[in-house]
Amino acid sequence: MKLTAKVALITGGARGIGQAIALTFAKAGANIVVADVNLEIAQKTALEIENLGVKALALEMDVTNYEKVEDGVNKILDKMGKVDILVNNAGITKDNLIMRMSPADWDAVINVNLKGTFNCIKAVSRPMVKQRSGRIISIASIIGLMGNPGQANYAASKAGIIALTKTVAKELASRNINANAVAPGFIQTEMTAKLPEDIKQKMLEAIPLAKLGTPQDVANLCLFLAADESSYITGQVVTIDGGMVMA
Ligand code: NDP
Repeated sequence: MKLTAKVALITGGARGIGQAIALTFAKAGANIVVADVNLEIAQKTALEIENLGVKALALEMDVTNYEKVEDGVNKILDKMGKVDILVNNAGITKDNLIMRMSPADWDAVINVNLKGTFNCIKAVSRPMVKQRSGRIISIASIIGLMGNPGQANYAASKAGIIALTKTVAKELASRNINANAVAPGFIQTEMTAKLPEDIKQKMLEAIPLAKLGTPQDVANLCLFLAADESSYITGQVVTIDGGMVMA
């Protein structure tokens, strides 16, 4: 699958799953904008991408701040000429049981995960509508489908992303813009590496394929949803979870 000369904006693209998506899109020929709160790490990833022979731009972008996001998109239009693909990947967790969850932790997670996704979709929607094409991929989670004790804020933010995706898909379909959500299960990242062995064992028992996913698995799915081969798919939630959640 090719993304030759497309311009892809990936939020939280400096590390983790976002970085895997950025590198995979670059290998498919896309020019990449790595947008992250941490400019230094974003620049490192951008260098890695340039070494693959495509253009890369590192942007300091806090997705919770609409003005900063709009400024960032204007910079992309200035330097890269267009934005074809948006991947809403930036996300955080601040887990606690509902009785102990502080309103500040609720707000922080909703602001990054859900408002950040809204901010980025809003900022790219005008240029995408003008060019009569676009792909919007938002990283949700199976937790947004099934809930999870200790993750009320995270689950609500990811369920919100799913509803937002369906609405945007309906609003923008007539302008040839597809919007889909990806719902990963347990993916091998720094976060899951730190989990105690017994918890990991319990997780594996709940996964029919009996293994964790990799950032590359998620990136491969995003590549499909960004490429021409998926042009008849919009408004969907695609789970990538080794079979944990079956509709
Ligand atoms: P990481 O924490 O490894 O990466 C997230 C990236 O987003 C970091 O670079 C982080 O920067 C950046 N970020 C955080 N806040 C903001 C912000 N306000 N604006 C811009 N960038 C920001 O997470 P993962 O790679 O594990 O997860 C990526 C996505 O996948 C998230 O949306 C997550 O919810 C989702 N997901 C992950 C799963 C997993 O098992 N790992 C499972 C299901 C879904 P910094 O670190 O500098 O703060």
